[in-house]
Amino acid sequence: MNKDENNGIKEGNGMEGKGKENIAGIIEKRAKEYQKAQLDLLKELVSYDTGSGNKEGNDKVVGILTKELEALGASVKLVKGEYGSNIVAKINENSPKGKILLSAHLDTVFKPGEAAKHPFKIEGEYAYGLGISDDKAGAVVAYYALKIMNELNKLPAKEIVVIFNCDEEIGSPTSKDIFKEEAKNAEYAFVFEPARENNGIITQRGGIGYYTMEVWGNEVHAGMRFQEGRNAVVELADKALKLHNMTKLEDKLFVNVSSIDGGNDFSVPVMLPGYAKMKFSVRLKDPDIMEQVMKEVKALENQIIIDGCKVKIQGEFVYVPMKRENNLGLYEIAKKAGKNMGIELDEIYTASGSDANHIASHGVPTIDALGAYYYGIHTKEEHILIASLTERTQLFANILGLL
Ligand SMILES: [Zn+2]
Repeated sequence: MNKDENNGIKEGNGMEGKGKENIAGIIEKRAKEYQKAQLDLLKELVSYDTGSGNKEGNDKVVGILTKELEALGASVKLVKGEYGSNIVAKINENSPKGKILLSAHLDTVFKPGEAAKHPFKIEGEYAYGLGISDDKAGAVVAYYALKIMNELNKLPAKEIVVIFNCDEEIGSPTSKDIFKEEAKNAEYAFVFEPARENNGIITQRGGIGYYTMEVWGNEVHAGMRFQEGRNAVVELADKALKLHNMTKLEDKLFVNVSSIDGGNDFSVPVMLPGYAKMKFSVRLKDPDIMEQVMKEVKALENQIIIDGCKVKIQGEFVYVPMKRENNLGLYEIAKKAGKNMGIELDEIYTASGSDANHIASHGVPTIDALGAYYYGIHTKEEHILIASLTERTQLFANILGLL
């Protein structure tokens, strides 16, 4: 697409009789007109249980969105895996003018039967439903922004790849590879997780490592053979404290020992425990310290305090921290789009992970939180601010107009 010099605002092109009206104004009008249709689509999408791995529900929502995307002229491919189908839809496939990625997830954290118990409803300014903000509204925002710009004949001439995956809530085991494949040659990526504080834009998500530690000692009778015993629980407790103390709040390095288990008889403490295990997570902001932190964690295997105990640590960073500086250029484009609508977009860091981490790990400038404003995420009270559904649709349509 051509850009004019008028603060990125394009004139009518393709809009007969509306040449004077700026594109942001036209988009706003369309987005408002489509609010009802967006809510109807959301109502349908949240009526199905789509907990990660729920193939039946996944099939339904994938069917609905496939039809919509095909109506936009996209070629839709379904990448099927053990948790359901991932939608990979392409508009302007293989365009020589570049490529962008859009991503939202269709799975939720809710069990079968819950959608019927907590159906879609509108109360005042809010729309309720399970998974409505995380992340079905994200998919609806992305889709309607594309639809509006397509109708205005103002979609970028680039290849537009839309990925609606089915396994984000469990770490994207099957869709990770799709991101890797589609990240090749992509200029920008847009992730439609729900909007948050001040409707800002996420330019950086922290990294998250999930680990398990096991300790083997020597299990003996605590009275008769105490001295031969090697207490795995005590060894593990030492490691738990060391991990806890690795936390550096000022660096946003958080180490969380989340569960421990050891010994084998809580009713009669007769045995000296020979086995213990725990789970812990490591969250960090700065990509540059990840390797070092991983080394420090692994080094605990060799810091035995009870001779004869053996410590084994397994795990990895499932979310790689995003490099903020890679995403600032794209954030500027979003800010400019916001300005055209008269809104300021703050920059946000969050310690939680999403598919933005996966996509950004392949070097694609990525921004996140482009979905609708959320309340009660992952609870049965989940809802969105309806006005933000419209505002975010407008925002992304305006972003598309600047690419
Ligand atoms: Zn999500």
